[in-house]
Amino acid sequence: MTITNKNDGIRICDITRPTSESIIIFGKVTRCYDTNNFEKSSMIKCSNCGHTIQIDNKFPYDKLKLPKYCPESKGGCGKYRSICKFNYEVNNEKKNWGIKTNIFLHDGTTSFMLILLGDNTPPNVGDLILFKAKIRAKFKAKSPIIKSWTGETTEFTLIDSEHSSEVIA
Ligand SMILES: [Zn+2]
Repeated sequence: MTITNKNDGIRICDITRPTSESIIIFGKVTRCYDTNNFEKSSMIKCSNCGHTIQIDNKFPYDKLKLPKYCPESKGGCGKYRSICKFNYEVNNEKKNWGIKTNIFLHDGTTSFMLILLGDNTPPNVGDLILFKAKIRAKFKAKSPIIKSWTGETTEFTLIDSEHSSEVIA
C-alpha cells in the first residue's frame, strides 16, 4: 500500500454510507485502546455427531459466531444448533492467535472505530492517519447528525501529528 497523501482519501466526516470495497480514509485519532489477543479461528465440537468444525473469526472479533447447523459440507451431521450443542475447544497454538487494537477517530460529529490487526505499533492520540478499510455502519444512531462507522485494517500511514505542537503546562 503506497498511500501517503490525504488527497488520495476521504475524511471520515464525508462518509455517507457503508462500502462493499475497501476505500482510503483519513481521520484524527482521539482514543486508542489496549492491544489485545484474539483467536483467528476457533474449533467447536458437535455434541450430536462428535465432529470438530473450524470457524474463522470475523470482524469485529469480539465474539464467536456459531453456525445455525452442523455443516454437512465440513463433514458434520447437518442437524440444527438446538439438537447439536456446540462445545468450544481451546486452541492454544500460537499461529492461531492474532493481536488487535481498537482505535477511535473523530471528525466533528462523525466517529470511526477502526480495528487495527497485526503487531504494528498503534498511532498516538492526536495523530492524523490514513488507512484503507471497508466501511461498515457501527450502529443506527438516533440522531441523524451523529454518524458512527467502523472497519478493519492491517496498516496505516501517519500523515500528521499534534505532538510537535503539544504544550506542556
Ligand atoms: Zn454434528
